[in-house]
Amino acid sequence: MSVADLNGLPIRDELRGMSPYGAPQLAVSVRLNTNENSYPLPDEVVTAVAKALAVAVRDVNRYPDRDAVALRAGLAGYLGHGLDVSRIWAANGSNEVQQQLLQAFGGPGRSALGFTPAYSMHPLLATATGTRWIDGKRDADFGLKAGDVAAQIREHRPDVVFLCSPNNPTGTALPLDVVSAALDTAPGMVVVDEAYAEFSRPGTPSALDLLPGHQRLVVTRTMSKAFALAGVRLGYLAADPAVVDAVQLVRLPYHLSALTQAAGQAALEHAEVLLRTVEAVKEQRDRIVATLRAYGLTVADSDANFVLFGEFRDQKAVWQALLTRDVLVRDVGLRGWLRVTAGTPAETDAFLAAMKELV
Ligand code: PMP
Repeated sequence: MSVADLNGLPIRDELRGMSPYGAPQLAVSVRLNTNENSYPLPDEVVTAVAKALAVAVRDVNRYPDRDAVALRAGLAGYLGHGLDVSRIWAANGSNEVQQQLLQAFGGPGRSALGFTPAYSMHPLLATATGTRWIDGKRDADFGLKAGDVAAQIREHRPDVVFLCSPNNPTGTALPLDVVSAALDTAPGMVVVDEAYAEFSRPGTPSALDLLPGHQRLVVTRTMSKAFALAGVRLGYLAADPAVVDAVQLVRLPYHLSALTQAAGQAALEHAEVLLRTVEAVKEQRDRIVATLRAYGLTVADSDANFVLFGEFRDQKAVWQALLTRDVLVRDVGLRGWLRVTAGTPAETDAFLAAMKELV
C-alpha cells in the first residue's frame, strides 16, 4: 500500500503514517520469525479435525453458535483452575480478544499502558480502537519490578494495563508479585497476555492463579502456539463472568465461524497429543540459549518458544546475513537485538550453523 493512496483518503488522523502489522512472509527454508509451532499436527489430530469439519460443514447454511458454548466449555476444561464456561470467552486469535477488551474498556478518551519492549500489537490495537497508548518502561535488562510497575500505573492512571508473560520479544515470564502490584494499583483492567504460557520453565506461575477475587483481571491465551493451530485463528480469555458479558457488547454477531469452533473443539479433545511438541520445542529453545551464549552473545532467559539474542552493532545486517543463508528470524525493531523461534532440531541446526559463521 503506498502512502499516496492513504493521503487521498479521509482516514482517521491517528492512523496516518502508521504501518500495518507485518512480519515478512517469505519463501525461506527455515522460517523462525513468527513464533509458530514448527511441528505440523500429528495424523490422528488431522483426521479428527477433518472429521469434525465435515460434520460442521453440513450446517453452514445456518449461523454458528453465537456464544461458542461447547468450545468455551472445552477451553475451561483445558485450563482447569475451577473455571467454567461463564469465565471463558473465545475469538479469532488472542489479537481479536484483546481488540474486544480495548473496545469494551478502552476507546476514545481512555488510555492503555504497556511496558516496552512487549508485544507490538498491543499499541496497534490501542490506536485502532481510539485508545491513547502509553509506553511504559522496563529495566535496562528488560526486567519488570513490582514497584516500578506500580509507580508507572500511579503516574498514568491507565484504563487498561497490558502485561505480557512470558514477554514477547524478551521471552521471560513475570513473577506474580508484578501482576499483584498492577492489580493493587490499577484503576481499570489488567490484561495479562499469556500466549506462550505452555512453554514456561517448571515452577512458573500463571496469572490464572490470581483470578479468584480479582474482577478486573483478564488472562488471554491462544491456540496458535503450543497447540500448533496458528492457521485456525483461535484465542481466548479467562476472567470474571462480568468481563465475558462486557466483551459480548462489542463482539460482532457470529464472530467465530462454525468451522473454527469445530476445529478448536476437535483439537482440544486431542490436547495431550498436541501438547507433546511443547517439550521438544523447549529442548530446542534451551539449546539455542546455551549455544548462543557459548558463541559469546547476550541471550535473554526464555520461558517461551523463542529467544532474544544480541547485541549487534547492526542487527539488520545480521538479519540479512541469516536470510542469505536461508534462515528467517525477526527484527523486532529493538536496536542491537534479534528474535528467533525455537522449532525442530533440524531448524535449530540450520540457524546455529549460520550463526556460527556470523559471530
Ligand atoms: N500475544 C502475544 C504475546 C503474541 O506474541 C501473539 C502472536 N504473535 C499473540 C498474542 C497473538 O496471537 P493469536 O492472535 O494468534 O492468538
